[in-house]
Amino acid sequence: MSHTAEIPLAQGSESPLELKPLKAADPQAVYHRRAQRLLSLAKDSPLADYFELCRRLVSIQARLAQEADFGKLLAWGKDEATPLSLLGSEADSYWQGLLQQLLSDLLPQVDESIARVVRLLMQQSPEQLSSWGRSLRQGHVSEVPARFSLFIWAAMGVYWSHWAPMVIKRMDQRKVAQQSMCPVCGCHPVASVIVDQPRAGLRYLHCSLCESEWHYIRAHCTSCGQDKEMTIWSLDDAKAQVRIESCDECHGYTKMMFVENSPSMDVAADDLATLMLDSELNAKGFGATTLNPLLLAHETT
Ligand SMILES: [Zn+2]
Ligand SMILES: [Zn+2]
Repeated sequence: MSHTAEIPLAQGSESPLELKPLKAADPQAVYHRRAQRLLSLAKDSPLADYFELCRRLVSIQARLAQEADFGKLLAWGKDEATPLSLLGSEADSYWQGLLQQLLSDLLPQVDESIARVVRLLMQQSPEQLSSWGRSLRQGHVSEVPARFSLFIWAAMGVYWSHWAPMVIKRMDQRKVAQQSMCPVCGCHPVASVIVDQPRAGLRYLHCSLCESEWHYIRAHCTSCGQDKEMTIWSLDDAKAQVRIESCDECHGYTKMMFVENSPSMDVAADDLATLMLDSELNAKGFGATTLNPLLLAHETT
């Protein structure tokens, strides 16, 4: 476990064509783009009210990412496979502080049914919140009341996404192997994005917690890794901006967002706007291998 101040920056390659295994996010920019995208996608959505709740929440995340006090980076596992998965109870007090700020900002902006949930969450003990936060980060979503998960994840996301870029600068990217879970914080991806820089058609998985992206070879299952029996699905034509890659081996699937021609796309917002694709895949017996932070409130407990 190490503190960043004592660790020199990792040496990077100078070649512009070199593929980066890991890409750090600018959390403020991500949250701003997400809020904009939620606003524009809400117009055509049967879930317009839910999009608006998410937009308000993400707008508060953008403000907190800019203004909040994040203290100093706590001990993290420099030599561990997922260095930011090891932040312990000290980090809890920081993200719980962000949660209280986020909920106080949101409270006057929501209707009474959601306000009741927000007030109830504000009254939970730090121990209870720590336990729920840990369960969510470990992927045990059903251990947390669904009505609270959206907000807890949003607060943790602001904290983890703030520190991820600084930790990435100090990681040796040559040691980052292709993997299903985020190499920085250990959480699930939301979906994958297909980019054309530095080479055409590269795929990166986008983290649901710290917003980092990591390279993952296309036509390889992002859950079990096999590369023999993959199928591509889309709602309309083969040039659709959102497509699904499903695996005939483990029956998992991951969405692919072709962001090059549509820079306003956002993984979480566009995933939410294409739930009909999920319904079709679910009906065929496939299950998502991803986690959308904006969909946690829709999970059943
Ligand atoms: Zn992450
Ligand atoms: Zn698979």
